[in-house]
Amino acid sequence: MSDEPVISARGLTKRYGDTVAVDGLDLEIGRGEVFGLLGPNGAGKTTTILMLLGLTEPTEGTVRVLGLDPARNPLAIKRRVGYLPDAVGFYEGLTGRENLRYTARLNRMDPDEAEARIDMLVDRVGLADAADRPAGTYSRGMLQRLGIADALVKDPDVLILDEPTAAIDPEGVSEMLDLIRTLATDQGVTQLISSHHLQQVQEVCDRVAIFVSGRIVASGTTHELAVGGAGPERLELRIDGGRDDLVRALEGVPGIDDIRPGRRPGSWEVVVAREHAGEAVRALAAGGIEILELRRASEELDEIYRRYFQEVTTHAG
Ligand code: ATP
Repeated sequence: MSDEPVISARGLTKRYGDTVAVDGLDLEIGRGEVFGLLGPNGAGKTTTILMLLGLTEPTEGTVRVLGLDPARNPLAIKRRVGYLPDAVGFYEGLTGRENLRYTARLNRMDPDEAEARIDMLVDRVGLADAADRPAGTYSRGMLQRLGIADALVKDPDVLILDEPTAAIDPEGVSEMLDLIRTLATDQGVTQLISSHHLQQVQEVCDRVAIFVSGRIVASGTTHELAVGGAGPERLELRIDGGRDDLVRALEGVPGIDDIRPGRRPGSWEVVVAREHAGEAVRALAAGGIEILELRRASEELDEIYRRYFQEVTTHAG
C-alpha cells in the first residue's frame, strides 16, 4: 500500500472549448517526494492542480490522490491535501492567527490542539511577530507565508503549492525551502510545487517536470534531464591562462564548436559535442592548463529549461 503513488494521473486531459489546457498528462509522485512542475504562463499548471484537488473535472483520463478520485471525493481530499493557491485570500479584518483559527474550525479540529499547532506554524513560517495584526495590513509576501501556514493547519499528507515563493524576499525563500524539505524528510509530506523559479526548484525538488502547452516535455531529476537532452555539452572553466591557451590545448579534439567567454566573469565556455566532452577535459590537462574551476553549464536547470523550450518551439514552428 505504501508503495502506491500518492498522486497519479493517466492521460489526464482538460479542454475548455477549443483550448486544450492539459493534454494527456501522465504523472506519478511517491510518498514524501517533492515534485516540481515547471512551465511558462498558460502551460496548464493551475488547471492540473485544480483537477488534483477535485475543483475541476477532467475532460478525459484519470487522476488519483491518496488512492481517491478527487472529483468524487472532494471533501476527503480537502481534509488531507493542503493547498496554497496562486492568489491567497484571507479575511482582512481578522488577524493572521484568527484566520488560521477559522481554517482549523472549518476542518473541525480540536480547539486546544489547533491553538498549539497555530503557534508552531506562525513561528515556522516567520510570522510570529505579525500574527496578531489584521491580515489586511500584510504585505504580499506575508500573505504567502500565512497561506503556507493555512495549508498546514490540518496537518495534511499532501501539500500542493502554486508559486509558493513568488512574493517572498530571498531570506524568506530560503526559510520556505527549508520548511518544504523538512516536511518531506521528517513527516513524509508529499509535495507538488508549481513554479517559475527554476534555481529554487532545482534546490528543493527530488524530481521536476517541464510542462509546456499542457504536455510534459521532460521529467526526471535535473541530472537525468541534462543527460537526456540533445545538444552539445557546455563546459564552463576558470583557468590560469587565456583563450589562446585553450585553443592550443584543444586543437586536436574533435567536436569543438566554440570557445567563448562564459557567463561568469573571468570564465570561458567550451562548447563541445557530448561524446567528446571527456576528451576535451583530458586534452586541457595534458596541455598543461591549470583548471581552477570546471562546471557543466548545461546541467543548470535554467539551461535545461531553455533547451527544452527551444526544442518544443522549434518542432512546433
Ligand atoms: P500561469 O503560470 O499563468 O498560472 P498555468 O500554467 O497555471 O499558467 P493554466 O492557468 O492552467 O496555466 O491555463 C492553461 C490554459 O487553459 C490557458 O490557455 C488558459 O487560458 C486556459 N484556461 C484556464 N482556465 C480556463 C477557464 N476556466 N476557461 C477557459 N480557459 C481556461
